[in-house]
Amino acid sequence: MDLMNRKLTWPEVFDLVHDYCNRYLSDNDIEEWWTSNKVAAKFRIDDLDHTVNARACRLPDGSYEIVFCAGLLDTFIKYAYEVAHNSKIIFFPAKTPKRNEEALERAHIWIVFIWIDYVFQHEFAHIFCGHLELLTDAQRGWYEFGINRGKNRLSIHQHRCLEAQADRFAAANILAQFIRYHESIPQDLYGKPNSEQFLIDYIYSILYLYKLFAMIQGNQESDTHPQPFFRSFIFQIFFRDTYARVSDVPKLEDKSLENLFHSCFVEFYKHEGGVDLEEFKKKLSEAQSFFNTISDSLRELKLSTL
Ligand SMILES: [Zn+2]
Repeated sequence: MDLMNRKLTWPEVFDLVHDYCNRYLSDNDIEEWWTSNKVAAKFRIDDLDHTVNARACRLPDGSYEIVFCAGLLDTFIKYAYEVAHNSKIIFFPAKTPKRNEEALERAHIWIVFIWIDYVFQHEFAHIFCGHLELLTDAQRGWYEFGINRGKNRLSIHQHRCLEAQADRFAAANILAQFIRYHESIPQDLYGKPNSEQFLIDYIYSILYLYKLFAMIQGNQESDTHPQPFFRSFIFQIFFRDTYARVSDVPKLEDKSLENLFHSCFVEFYKHEGGVDLEEFKKKLSEAQSFFNTISDSLRELKLSTL
């Protein structure tokens, strides 16, 4: 891969991601949470595991570990390249009037890091929300992509609700990166400040991540995760909700914010999902019905609700 015009070897990429994720774990607020709960966590890349997966584990000494498999990073880098360079909707300003290859390569790297952020925050949520305490002794950790089933004491629906809770947490927390970079990155990518366009591209990049999840699942119904469309529905609810409440983001009226999210959602599924409007509305109402069951499930498991 070519990171900002510099050829990096895999160990260098791993080091970069390692430092990036560890920065979260040494954040003051998070460290305080670890200390007050007398727990510790670290981040690791399993460079021998080429499956496309990530996990959160409780180690024998009681500490926690977030692990990304090398295969996940490899897939992120390859698919983000395809998205940045070939998608007809994301980073559109960098593609007109003529393709700006340098900006597209920056967009590629941005997408990779937005996805790393998301998965890291999702795994962190499994620890933070207490999901690991619900595993049986036979389970070594909370694996994504279906490996948990079989030995699980949770029902399929409960498991899906916990995944939704982790998505909710990730949706709210990845905004921190948007806030940090929304002024400088658009200049880099589009050649001029454009926070609103960056917000649109940020939303699209997460919708592409769910598309990648659907491809990894082979469009099969997963018995551990809600279907990717439902996950993207949950993302847009909580990302929008948090956006409306935080400062330091370009202010948009409630109605414009709602319209912006809605049109990104519709555009994405029209272009990338081949879904027509009727089908889209049907999926939306199914997603809403699933969403309405989550809090009851979390309550059953004695966890805090959404
Ligand atoms: Zn998960």
